[in-house]
Amino acid sequence: MKALVKHSPKEGIWMEDVPDPKCGPGEVRIRITHTAICGTDKHIFEWDEWAQNNLKLPLIVGHEFCGIIDEVGPHVTHYKAGDRVSGEGHITCGNCRNCRAGKKHLCPETIGVGVHRDGAFAEYLVIPESNVWPLHEDIPSEIAAFFDPLGNAVHTALAFNITGEDILICGAGPIGMMAAAICKFSGSRNIVVTDINDYRLNLAKDLGASRTVNPRKEDIGTVFEELGISHGFDVGLEMSGNPEAFNQMIDKMYNGGNIALLGILPNSTKINWDNVIFKGLNIKGIYGREMFDTWHKMTQMLRSGLSISDVLTHRFNIDDFNDASLDFIPETSEALGFGFRCGFLGLLHMEIIQERLEREFNLDLVTT
Ligand code: NAD
Ligand code: ZN
Repeated sequence: MKALVKHSPKEGIWMEDVPDPKCGPGEVRIRITHTAICGTDKHIFEWDEWAQNNLKLPLIVGHEFCGIIDEVGPHVTHYKAGDRVSGEGHITCGNCRNCRAGKKHLCPETIGVGVHRDGAFAEYLVIPESNVWPLHEDIPSEIAAFFDPLGNAVHTALAFNITGEDILICGAGPIGMMAAAICKFSGSRNIVVTDINDYRLNLAKDLGASRTVNPRKEDIGTVFEELGISHGFDVGLEMSGNPEAFNQMIDKMYNGGNIALLGILPNSTKINWDNVIFKGLNIKGIYGREMFDTWHKMTQMLRSGLSISDVLTHRFNIDDFNDASLDFIPETSEALGFGFRCGFLGLLHMEIIQERLEREFNLDLVTT
C-alpha cells in the first residue's frame, strides 16, 4: 500500500510502498478515506527534540482519520467489513487502575497511533476493535476525520459547567475556535476569545465567540463593562499554550473560577500564585479525550446542530504529495504568526499560499 513514512532521522516524510498491514486478534483494518494533520505530525516531520526522544523509525505517520473497515481479525465481535468508522488514537493498556476504573484517558501505558505504532497516512490502518468509533450516518466523513482535536475541544469545554457562565478562551487555534462553538451550543453567557492573530479571531467570531480580544491591542478587562461581567470570568479554557495568555487568564478569573488547561505550556512558565491561591481557583489539566464519553458527546452535539465545519478550509489529495513539500510549513506558519498544531485546521491561512501549496505541497489534509 501507499503510505507516508518517516524512515530517516532527519527532516521530512516520504511516500513509500509498504506491505499491507494484517489484523491481529481483536484488531480491525480500516481503509482510510480521510485524514487530518496534527501538530504532532509537524514535530515528526521536523524531527525536533520531542520527535527524536519519542519515536522509533521507520514509522507511518498520522492519527486523525476516518475510513471503512475492510477486514476484521479473529475475535472481533462488534464490527464488520463495510462499517464506516473513526477511531481513538490513544491505545490504552486496559488493565491499569485507571483503565479498570473507566478512566482510560489517564492510562500511564498509553500508546499513540502514528507515534508509537504505524498511523493513518496510508491506505490502510490497523487498530484494536476497542479503539474504533462507529460513525452515525449524520456525521460527514470530512468532520469525522478531525474528531481527535474536536474531542480535545469537547473534553476541555465540558470539564466544568459552562451553561450560563462567562467564559474566557485563550488561543483561537482550531481547538479554541471549536471550543467557542461548543460553549455557544451549551448555553454559555459570554464567550470571550483571545488571540494575537486577527484572522483567527475573525474565524472564532464566526464560530461562536461573543467578543474577541487581541491582547496586543486591547486589555481583556475592557470587555467587562461592555459585556456586563461584574467581577471576572467563571470558566477559563487555556488553549494557547502561551504563558502570557495563561497569566492574563488567571488575572481575569472571578474568585472560585474554574480553569481547564489544554494548551501545552512550557515547563518554565511562571504564574502569579497569589491569583490562584487567594482567588481559590480550580485548575484542571486536560489530556486527549475521555474514552469514550467525549466521542459520544461530540457525535450527539453534531447531530443536534453543533456546527464546526468552518474550521476546515482546505482539502488536498494525498497523491500530490512530494518529498520537498512540507518544508514551507514552519516558515510560513511562523511568518503568519501562528503555530501549526492540528494542522488540518492549522491551514486556516492557506489561501494566502494556495498557489504554492498546489504547486509543491498537496499533502492530504482530507484525502478524497
Ligand atoms: P494552535 O497553535 O493552532 O493555536 C494556539 C493559538 O494560540 C494560536 O492561534 C496562537 O496565535 C495563539 N496565541 C499565541 N500567543 C497568544 C497569546 N499571548 N494570547 C492569546 N493567544 C495566543 O493550537 P491548537 O491546535 O488549536 O491547540 C491548542 C493548544 O492545545 C496547543 O498548545 C496544543 O499543543 C495543545 N494541545 C493539547 C492537547 C492535550 O491533550 N493536552 C491535545 C492537542 C493540542
Ligand atoms: Zn491503562
